[in-house]
Amino acid sequence: MDEKNFEKLLLSVSKPGRYSGGEVGSVYKDNKEKLVRFALCFPDSYEIGMSHLGVKILYSVLNDRDDTWCERVFAPWGDFEEVMRQNNIPLFALESRDSVKDFDIIGFSLMYEMCYTTVLNMLDLAGIPVYAKDRNELFNIVVAGGACTYNPEPLADFIDIFMIGEGEELICELTALYKKFKDERKTKAEFLQAAAQIKGLYVPSLYKVTYNQDGTIQSFEPQGGAPKTVQKRIIKDLDSAPYPQMFVMPYCETVFDRATAEIFRGCIRGCRFCQAGFVYRPVREKSADTIIKQSAQLCENTGYEELSLLSLSTSDHSQIEPLLSGLYDYAQENKISLSLPSLRIDNFSDDLLKKISGIRKTGLTFAPEAGTQRLRDAINKNITEEDIFKSCKMAFMGGYTSVKLYFMLGLPTETDEDIIGIADLAQRILDLFYSLEDRPKGKSPSITISVACFIPKPFTPFEFAAQNSKEELQRKQQLLLASVHSKKIRVNYHDSSTSYIEAVLAKGNRNLCDVVYKAFKNGANLDGWSEYYKPEAWQKAFEECGVDPLFFSGREIPTDEINPWDFIDIGVTKKYLISEYQKAKQGTTTPNCRKRCSYCGARCFNAGICKEGENKCSK
Ligand code: SF4
Repeated sequence: MDEKNFEKLLLSVSKPGRYSGGEVGSVYKDNKEKLVRFALCFPDSYEIGMSHLGVKILYSVLNDRDDTWCERVFAPWGDFEEVMRQNNIPLFALESRDSVKDFDIIGFSLMYEMCYTTVLNMLDLAGIPVYAKDRNELFNIVVAGGACTYNPEPLADFIDIFMIGEGEELICELTALYKKFKDERKTKAEFLQAAAQIKGLYVPSLYKVTYNQDGTIQSFEPQGGAPKTVQKRIIKDLDSAPYPQMFVMPYCETVFDRATAEIFRGCIRGCRFCQAGFVYRPVREKSADTIIKQSAQLCENTGYEELSLLSLSTSDHSQIEPLLSGLYDYAQENKISLSLPSLRIDNFSDDLLKKISGIRKTGLTFAPEAGTQRLRDAINKNITEEDIFKSCKMAFMGGYTSVKLYFMLGLPTETDEDIIGIADLAQRILDLFYSLEDRPKGKSPSITISVACFIPKPFTPFEFAAQNSKEELQRKQQLLLASVHSKKIRVNYHDSSTSYIEAVLAKGNRNLCDVVYKAFKNGANLDGWSEYYKPEAWQKAFEECGVDPLFFSGREIPTDEINPWDFIDIGVTKKYLISEYQKAKQGTTTPNCRKRCSYCGARCFNAGICKEGENKCSK
């Protein structure tokens, strides 16, 4: 690429720093023709991708290998894509600026269903055929990992290999296998057959799906010696797992531009709508010592002056007191600002509360998810009003004035009473503020209700549930708005139109591949961004393919139906998910993993919390 011309083109678009490369922390290697070239592609903007911890971990793990050079690729924003297409600039990697078409392995991180058309657009921009069947060489192998691979089927026709589960070890095994087969001049077909034997790798072209007349799956059969089920991979011991000592430092502003400490994986809670809570089981913690050591190393190497913690529920770390205390001391000593997510502070010692009160200055957030205790029990959200009011009271007395509450609309078993209950809960928190004599004087309180639409996801007890129609969700949004009677309570809600496509893609089967392709051809790209989202592109695609989207998202699935994702083994059994779905309908709760094991099946990994106590495998 002509450097001068490239610079000129960059100056014609917004945020050229997204495409320039050359950031501190980028990895460069010599003798590239001798290395496995790995393009780590994030199907979203630079700002989102550069904030993603998984990308940073895999970038560092792959570049630690002597035989591999991993480079970053992000989706261009619309203005730059136009420039690229007009000037015949193929999609390129930031480090070498080589075209993605020159890479051996092209790996996508699938974090969100609304990125599927962006994956196709990126392949197209690179000049690579989007359908896997049109790529015949042992080159440009397209792989994908990330949360969406727990139902990979809507992308089955495009991706050569899916990596199911945690990627640190798996991606190295895949790369080593590729190198061996490339050196031995083997074919792509031979490579795929061998890859299918590695635990956690799913090769969709080696499975044949047949359908019943009503469109449901009749059989899902492996071919050519591929395994019948694909078990997800996990890292058993996070203390000894690789963690980056350096991040690439972005040139332009990103969503999170700071040092991040991952403190554990999984969640003890088992909220019935939450996919992460089931697919990342069992909970595995890093020790406080490891976290403090890794954080210090990262801050030192990057020069970051801000450190944040990452997990699904920080307060549930079993060593939260020594951890926060140690991090606080380190941060104080080194003038690092520690940013903590919302914590359950009700069981902290006075000492620790005093320490962290100096740093917790942002607003208070809670995720009750549902407006009434009945519905909170049905979704197994183990949070009571007593918990909320106790924490709000402490926070108000400590000087806080704003509270943000997260809810979902359209949850299974929801009634209008539950929706009115959301407004009512917010009102009572407001009343609590005014009832306190020690409340912050001279300040006005504000309560924000943030509502998302419920999306049934695979590998949750609600995978069987139907999603509300768009019209019903819109009616519920209006009911909520009409139930709020104070100007100090604000309601934000998420667009029900993208939630509807998200649910279809989350639960779809292989028949959706052509729909995703047609939607992309109809102009869908960067669907997660409201300024780009084109519902008509999807609508037309469903019509062109003769596919009824409500078949996937709008009906309750019988528990004995074969789901497109049933061939994946996440540890947690389908039997357990069915029993949890039944308990939801009865409104009964399940205790968290630390209180009592419920024999979900994840014990079979023999790791983390399942190893503690007397838990036994239920499989
Ligand atoms: S087997 Fe028991 S402890 Fe382990 S994740 Fe399942 S419920 Fe939790």
